Amino acid sequence: MTTGTSLHPAGGRARPATFGELRRIPDFDARAASRSVKDEIRGNLLRAIERGETLFPGVQGYEDTVIPQIVNALLSRHNFILLGLRGQAKSRILRGLINLLDTEIPVVAGCEINDDPLKPLCRACRERIASEGDNTPIAWMPRDLRYVEKLATPDVTIADIIGDVDPIRAARGGRDLSDELTIHYGLLPRANRGIFAINELPDLAGKIQVGLFNIMQEGDIQIKGYPLRLPLDVLLVFSANPEDYTARGKIITPLKDRIGSEIRTHYPTTLEEGVAITTQEAWTGRDSAYRVEVPDYLRELVEEIAFHARDDKRVDKRSGVSQRLPISVLESVVSSAEQRAARTGEKLTVARVADVYSALPSITGKLELEYEGELKGADTIARELIRTASGRIFSKRFSDVNFQPVIQWFELGGELKLAELAGTADRYKQLANIKDLMEHVDRLGADKKEQAHAAAAAEMILEGLWAHRRIGRSEERGFYADKPKPQPDSREGGPPRPPRRSYN
Ligand SMILES: [Zn+2]
Repeated sequence: MTTGTSLHPAGGRARPATFGELRRIPDFDARAASRSVKDEIRGNLLRAIERGETLFPGVQGYEDTVIPQIVNALLSRHNFILLGLRGQAKSRILRGLINLLDTEIPVVAGCEINDDPLKPLCRACRERIASEGDNTPIAWMPRDLRYVEKLATPDVTIADIIGDVDPIRAARGGRDLSDELTIHYGLLPRANRGIFAINELPDLAGKIQVGLFNIMQEGDIQIKGYPLRLPLDVLLVFSANPEDYTARGKIITPLKDRIGSEIRTHYPTTLEEGVAITTQEAWTGRDSAYRVEVPDYLRELVEEIAFHARDDKRVDKRSGVSQRLPISVLESVVSSAEQRAARTGEKLTVARVADVYSALPSITGKLELEYEGELKGADTIARELIRTASGRIFSKRFSDVNFQPVIQWFELGGELKLAELAGTADRYKQLANIKDLMEHVDRLGADKKEQAHAAAAAEMILEGLWAHRRIGRSEERGFYADKPKPQPDSREGGPPRPPRRSYN
C-alpha cells in the first residue's frame, strides 16, 4: 500500500502499483496527473526559471539568443524547429528537453503507447481497465524513455513513423484489419506522452509530412487506407538546415503552419566562447602516463581555424563548419603531443604548433569545399587556415613588439631545424640560441625558465613571424631568412616554399 502523498513520491516510498492505488493517493489530483506533456513541460520550466536553474546544462553561448526563444516556444506550448548548420548543438538542446519532464509518470503497464491510466487511448488498455478496474497494473516510466528521436532520410516510411498493419497479429487474432489491435505502432505513437524529435525534417517524404500534420491537427491517420483515430499527446520538435527548410517545396505548407516557432542556432560568436565549448567537449583530460599541457594560445589557434574556415569563401557556407572541427583538432593535438612524449619518454609535454599540423586529418574531412577550394585541395586549404590563424594569434599578442633582432639573426645566416622528435631540452637550446627570442615568450603566458613551455611558445613566435612573411619556413619545420625566390607559378600572397617534399 502506498504511503506517498504526491503523484511523484520521494525515493524510498512505495509507488502505486495499480490503478486503484494511484487513485487512492491522499491528495491525488486527477487533473494535474493527466496534464498534457506540453503543460507538464511548461509547469516544470516555469519552476526551473523561478529557481534560477541552468535550463540546458552543457549548452554554451546561447544564453541570450537561442535559449530565451526556446523558453518562449515551450511556454507557448508550441511545437518548434531549430534551424542551424552542422555542429551547433541542436541535438543536444533537443535531448536537453528531457530535463523538463517529470522524473517519472504512471502508465498502464505493458502499453505500447504509454497510455495514461486515467485517459487510455488504445483499445487494449480501455478494455483492460473496463475489465480489471482498480486492479489494472500501473508502471512508472522514467523521463529518459519519453524522448524519441529519428533522423529523417528519404527512405523513412509511414510504417516507421506512424505504424503499420501487422498481418501476423491480424491472422492470430482473427480480427478485422481495420481493428486497431492489429496495428504495429511506429515511433510517433510510441512517443505518446513524451517528446518526438525529427532531425533534418526536410528529408522526410511529403507523404509522411502529411501524416505528421494529420496527427498534429486532427489526431487521426490513415494506414494503408484504414482510418485510425489516435489523438496522441506529444511535443514535436524538429531540426533542419535553414536553406533546406526554406527551399520551396521541401516542407508542406500545412505542416510548416503547425510548427509554432522557428528558432535559429548559430556558431559561437566570440573566440572565447568557442574555446570554452571546445574545452568542454574535447577529450583532453586523459588517464595517461604522459601529461600533456595545451597552452591557451594553442587552444585559441585551434578555435581560430574554425572561425576562419567559416569565413573562407572556398568553404561551403550552406553546410557550415561544425564545432566538431576544433573539438577533433584539439583532441588530435593532444594525441600528437602524447605520441611524442611516449617516443621521447618525457613525462610532461607541452603541445606545440607543430602538433596542429599533425592534426590536419581532423580538419580536411570536415570541410565541405566550394569549387575553388576543391581545385586547391583540402590539405592546402587546411594549411592556409592554420597559417592565417597563427598570424592572428601572433598579431593579438605581439603587434607592438619589435622582432628585428630575431629576423636579423636569420638574415645573418641563422637557420633552425626543429627535429620532429627532439627532446625538450634540445629544442629549448636551439631556440634560445636565437637572439632575443626567449625574451618574448611571456606574452604567450610562458615562463622562459620553464623549458617545455618556453620552447613551445618560442616556436609559436617563429610560426607567427612566418605567417606574416617576415621569415621563411619549410614544411619540415626549418626556419630561415625570408628570401623570396620568384617562381613562375608563385601566386601573390603565397608562402615562400622551398622546392622540398612536403610531409605529414
Ligand atoms: Zn494502451
